[in-house]
Amino acid sequence: MDNDEYDIETLAVRAGTVRSQFNEHSEAIFLTSSFMFSSAAEAAARFKGEQPGPIYARFANPTVNMMEARLAALEGAERCVAFASGMASILATVMGLMKAGEHVVASRSIFGSTVQLFSNILGRFGVETTYVSPTDPAEWRAAVKPNTRLFFVESPSNPLTEVSDIRALADIAHEAGAWLAVDNCFCSPALQKPLELGADIVIHSATKYLDGQGRVLGGAVLGSKELMEGVFTFLRTAGPTLSAFNAWVILKGMETLSLRMEAHSKNALALAQWLEAQPQVARVWYPGLPSHPQHELAMRQQKTGGGIVSFELKGGKDAAWKLIDATKLLSITANLGDTKSTITHPASTTHSRMTAEQRAAAGISDGLVRIAAGLESVADIQTDLTRGLAG
Ligand SMILES: *Cc1c(COP(=O)(O)O)cnc(C)c1O
Repeated sequence: MDNDEYDIETLAVRAGTVRSQFNEHSEAIFLTSSFMFSSAAEAAARFKGEQPGPIYARFANPTVNMMEARLAALEGAERCVAFASGMASILATVMGLMKAGEHVVASRSIFGSTVQLFSNILGRFGVETTYVSPTDPAEWRAAVKPNTRLFFVESPSNPLTEVSDIRALADIAHEAGAWLAVDNCFCSPALQKPLELGADIVIHSATKYLDGQGRVLGGAVLGSKELMEGVFTFLRTAGPTLSAFNAWVILKGMETLSLRMEAHSKNALALAQWLEAQPQVARVWYPGLPSHPQHELAMRQQKTGGGIVSFELKGGKDAAWKLIDATKLLSITANLGDTKSTITHPASTTHSRMTAEQRAAAGISDGLVRIAAGLESVADIQTDLTRGLAG
């Protein structure tokens, strides 16, 4: 199908489908590690890359390829390379495109494991990272060095939902001869398309909204054919491969992506407005609220405010833990992007491996609570929270 002719809702359901000889309606799962050739000559041609077609499932499987083609259609990317997880995708981006002695400028407000990867692992291999404010493009410009190759940002950020100006960062990156990579996990292509805003690379934890039902881990890197060649070579050689089964789950998850993102956003906005009116709440962070510091930018750059709401309780850590422990409906888990609403205390879980100073610099206080709004009734979620707020 010609992707340019269709809207995202249509692409999410139909893009990338390749049918087998049986003409199955729903996409098939190919659980096989290798693929056969009809002759020695065909085998040789496949290995040489002269003939298209799968060889070995570490780097090519029809189910995984369908998932990649569908996600590429949604993001408007030339190519998508799938990985076993979001973290494997971030690692592959650096391993595929950079070398020792080069430099990354990254937002200070990124996923905790991403900070660990840049600082503690890639740092040991000679890739240095400077952290800057997600909301001040001038800091990015000031952090550029002659060896800067990559800008890395998450928008909105986790857990404070800070919104970065993707177009401004892309311009600064390009002036510096660097690429801008955007972790688009919080929005998904249903709400934000970073490549259209000038980014070079989009990264996904498919574990979150793309699956959308908390079942499997997966990830992806998207961009131009040229950039993805290096990322694919890392996959082919090192093997952090997405399984065919997980790819199929994500492929099916994407079919309801737009509907789910709309519903998550609606619940999150209602929850954010309600939380803002509670006397125990010091502050609410949600890009869809006019009180959010980058509200206008968010509404320009994103279709909605998304599904994540964070708020700070006046009573600090004790109040936060009490609220979490009083819930009967919400899931106490660090995951997000599920049909089930989740509640998290970032300072002691997802961001606990940061030092207290790093947390303070990122604005993650001990009274901060993050809710990923699921698809339950918002009235039921409010009732669940009222118990711990009042008690
Ligand atoms: C979860 C998450 C990741 C890591 O993804 P995994 O699939 O868990 O490896 C990366 N970035 C963001 C923003 C995330 O929320």
